[in-house]
Amino acid sequence: MRGEGRTVGLVILDGVADRPAPALDGETPLEAAATPQLDRLATAGQSGTMDIRAPGTPMSSDRAHAVLFGYDPAEVPGRGVLEARGFDVSVPADGVTCSASFAAATPEGDRWRITDRTVTDARPCNGAAAQVARFETAGVTVTFDYTWKNRGLVRLRPESGRLDPAVTDVDPFEAGLPVVTPAPLSDATDSDAAARTGKALAAYTRWTVDRLSAMPVDVVLSKWAGQPTDPEPFARRHGMAGATLTPKPVLQGLGHTLGMAVADPPANYDDRCRAALAALDDHAFVHVHYPEPDEVAHAASPAAKRDEIEAIDATLEPLVDRALADPDLVLAVTADHTTPSRGNVVHSGEPVPVALTGETVRRDDVRQFGERSAATGGLGRFAARDLCRQLRAAADRVLLDGLRRAPHVPDHPTTDLDALRRQTDDRT
Ligand SMILES: [Zn+2]
Repeated sequence: MRGEGRTVGLVILDGVADRPAPALDGETPLEAAATPQLDRLATAGQSGTMDIRAPGTPMSSDRAHAVLFGYDPAEVPGRGVLEARGFDVSVPADGVTCSASFAAATPEGDRWRITDRTVTDARPCNGAAAQVARFETAGVTVTFDYTWKNRGLVRLRPESGRLDPAVTDVDPFEAGLPVVTPAPLSDATDSDAAARTGKALAAYTRWTVDRLSAMPVDVVLSKWAGQPTDPEPFARRHGMAGATLTPKPVLQGLGHTLGMAVADPPANYDDRCRAALAALDDHAFVHVHYPEPDEVAHAASPAAKRDEIEAIDATLEPLVDRALADPDLVLAVTADHTTPSRGNVVHSGEPVPVALTGETVRRDDVRQFGERSAATGGLGRFAARDLCRQLRAAADRVLLDGLRRAPHVPDHPTTDLDALRRQTDDRT
């Protein structure tokens, strides 16, 4: 054990949880996959299932990761801000930053209907970005920065006064639906500022259609408006210096926002596992992200997802060897949400499987890493907001309930204490 507790590793297989597939004899891709390494972890430790938020709530990866890291999503800025930070694009403190994408749309009456929002040929998007780069309306400057594929960032800056990010998304996330009016949300804290944001975004959206009339894409669809917040840093909340190894800019942005060390890990699975092992030597908490199961589930079939899971598992042996041999390491493997590999929902809200190992972790009788086996495990079914505390508990990083060592009452056993002076320095 080093310092104030054991090291914690958290492997997130993005969207690895799934629904039963007829093509896999009613098994999920994870159940159908041969996963000897993940099964070793399940056998050595304790399993359970985890609701990321309220049962049945489909989660995006960014909001799910906020919960997995021990935060309420409301503490963390909207995704537009996280993406901007991930792409190293500056975020205006008093402005609003949205994620955005180019889409094809067609006029329908006095509205527009979206015909293609994926735009797989991204070649024209750089040129399109130049067409929609800067716009001014009613004291608000709107800029567009191209990021990747057909995506970009829309930033709104007020000359004076306020903007509020609580507006509806212009992107309805489904072809065949209309381009949506950006309107203030009913629970906006500043409804006037949200209305102003909505008007500026509406004007910008109409302007992009004019500007893109000669391009193969027709409109900029903005979404996930955000404004910077000031969440408690991860290290202060949990008493662990955190590192996140993720190739996803939005999660890199989340890591930056929470004061974690951020690394873009190798695409090769063997190399990624090696990078995780190296990071565990340098940080008390290491998050290792595999977005691929989710990506394959969106793009392909249950069988393809099963094969991808097997490919990842085949490279995890060094990490599993260490988890089973190192008494100073607590390791958990789980997912951030369920991604159905068939049907047309984006994500779904079933609980995800968890396997937890460590010298302090009680064993159960589960021998496989999968949805139905995990549901029989000793961790039971719990909420993801409690994941970090359970990991810290296994790492002996939770202070006895009721002890107060510091004014802000951290529940981790900090030794960063205000030691009493031997003589008073009160000269008043
Ligand atoms: Zn997904």
